[in-house]
Amino acid sequence: NKLRVGLLFGGRSGEHEVSISSARAIAQAISSDQNAQKYELLPFYIQKDGYWLAGEIAQQVLTSGTPLQLNGSNIQLPNPSQTSLPIPTSPYLPVSSSSSSAQVADVDVWFPIIHGPNGEDGTVQGLLQLMQIPYVGSGVLGSAMGMDKIAMKMAFAQAGLPQVKYMTINRAQVWSNPCVFPKLCDQIEATLGYPCFVKPANLGSSVGIAKVRSRSELETALDNAASYDRRLIIEAGVVARELECAVLGNDNPKASVVGEITFESDFYDYETKYTAGKAGFLIPAPVPESVSSAIQEMSLQAFASVDAAGLARVDFFYVEATGEVLINEINTLPGFTATSMYPQMWEKSGVPFTELVDQLIQLALERHS
Ligand code: ATP
Ligand code: MG
Ligand code: MG
Ligand code: MG
Repeated sequence: NKLRVGLLFGGRSGEHEVSISSARAIAQAISSDQNAQKYELLPFYIQKDGYWLAGEIAQQVLTSGTPLQLNGSNIQLPNPSQTSLPIPTSPYLPVSSSSSSAQVADVDVWFPIIHGPNGEDGTVQGLLQLMQIPYVGSGVLGSAMGMDKIAMKMAFAQAGLPQVKYMTINRAQVWSNPCVFPKLCDQIEATLGYPCFVKPANLGSSVGIAKVRSRSELETALDNAASYDRRLIIEAGVVARELECAVLGNDNPKASVVGEITFESDFYDYETKYTAGKAGFLIPAPVPESVSSAIQEMSLQAFASVDAAGLARVDFFYVEATGEVLINEINTLPGFTATSMYPQMWEKSGVPFTELVDQLIQLALERHS
């Protein structure tokens, strides 16, 4: 009797393609010799419009590695009139394309691997929680706290973790009153100076983030970020090396070796993240042992401070000139392709990819029981 693992991927965020890549790697690990006696894979694909597909079609997306076209030229959708709905009419029983394909009720444990909004932010976790089926990763609170940079930073501050100076604003302050906007910009300039980073609070993969060096860049960046999210954050820019640490576990989590990201671009933006050869990983990071142990300690504190579970990747700035380590953020469903930082940091810490996937599923069962 194998445990049926519902691999939930795709989703309505800008990180849809990344999710497919992560899901492919996880699917391979679940089907590997090492795990195949224990687990059976049931893929569930959420299209860009929010429509759920299971069975053969979902498997096809995994195999091809490319999203389904919403105009449906390559597939026969079960109910084309519903494909523009943001969520299926019955989320508990997503429509499947063939009578033989899997249903939600067949799943013993979920492995959601949807990055960004509507996946990493507690929404999917709430749905799975209501189903009363165990799922990999953080619960509703941990996911929501970890997705929202404002809530996350409040939790980090409360835990005493050092961070860059920042300000939080909302979309209405950017858009609705032309008299207020210049004052807002004055305030940002006075408080943070240039360069600063403008970010939508609830996103990932650097989507909507801009590094700004002048008033006009600030204005453009605020307007752009406001198009992604109601909540915005502006941070003082630091000149620093970028270090990351992977956390695995529930109430007694472990921290991996520390890794470093290297790149030539202005900052670690979307293009640098997803263009082969633009970023390099150094694992373990060539930093003093005092720095890596501080980062491991801070990663575990950050994990607990937002109530994360299962897995998280914690990102840091290391200001080499002063020796200062600042926490940047936590990601509760980090990129999980075979070449992503999270699994690679575990690989270098003695946990190979297939075993990592196995452990995450076991942690989901442990948390649910
Ligand atoms: P992820 O894909 O890791 O979820 P994200 O979209 O949540 O990323 P951040 O990690 O907040 O975005 O920022 C993306 C990148 O922008 C950082 O890795 C770094 O290169 C740069 N950056 C962000 N904030 C700052 C800052 N305050 N000072 C200097 N660089 C920054
Ligand atoms: Mg992030
Ligand atoms: Mg992210
Ligand atoms: Mg980051």
